[in-house]
Amino acid sequence: MKFGVHVGIGGGFAKTVAEALAAGCECIQIFAGNPRGWRTTPYDPAAWAAFAELRRAHGIAPTVIHTSYLINLASSDRLLRTKSAGLVAHDLDVAARGAIEYVNTHLGSYGAQPRARGFDHICKLVDALVTAAPAGPMLLLENSAGGGNKCGGTIEELGEIVRAVGSKRVGVCLDTAHLWASGYDIASARGLSSVLKLVERHIGFGRVRVLHLNDTQVALGAKHDLHWHLGKGRIGAAGFRAILTRPEFRNAACICETPEKALDRQNVSAARRFAGARRSGSRGAKKHKRS
Ligand SMILES: [Zn+2]
Ligand SMILES: [Zn+2]
Repeated sequence: MKFGVHVGIGGGFAKTVAEALAAGCECIQIFAGNPRGWRTTPYDPAAWAAFAELRRAHGIAPTVIHTSYLINLASSDRLLRTKSAGLVAHDLDVAARGAIEYVNTHLGSYGAQPRARGFDHICKLVDALVTAAPAGPMLLLENSAGGGNKCGGTIEELGEIVRAVGSKRVGVCLDTAHLWASGYDIASARGLSSVLKLVERHIGFGRVRVLHLNDTQVALGAKHDLHWHLGKGRIGAAGFRAILTRPEFRNAACICETPEKALDRQNVSAARRFAGARRSGSRGAKKHKRS
């Protein structure tokens, strides 16, 4: 299990990596452009190659690109769907060229149209995207907090999309705060084990490549997307300890998307502590006395 946070790229990739290292990251998530805009940033091959080299030198892997928040692959508006797919395709292209393992996307919202129609749009677009994408990155579909006709609010629904598309290049990212908000009580032992059964039955753990590790202060099932510091919210220290010691998630990259950059290091070390893990390849760990 690897741990990291979402880091900015606005100040240049050297700063991105410096921030990642300062926070104790072994894996990272970035936006490849403006997460609230449609316009893409021109790809600078030299800068992205240098970024890949820096990550390799510091043992940071995997890297996740999180797509724009504007994306809606289910929309009844054809233009919006096309623009959305265009952004995901762009990020898949950047990932392939920049040696980045994963592109993670929200699915969007069904709006007022019949759910089946929106669901069909998602499956067709996801299929077309992974078929057309250059070799390399995997496309991860993130679970939502579930409110307002949002797509992907249940494990069953994500599983349905994954099965309908049937490509090895489609995976899933589970966000703990979204699971909680959509009504899965992952803070209790019973709730967690029933969630794990659902994941196994509908998605398969081999496809769950990333966990967004976020605590939250909203009530169970509130359908409200609010992130909070690990162990300080409703999921709590005991909840994260139970989640992070499950063998099913041992190959997942865990990314914290908690507020306040200054507290990133604390969240990463809390996650590592809950998992009972030492930093992989760490040379800074205290030596045991052998007397
Ligand atoms: Zn997300
Ligand atoms: Zn969220």
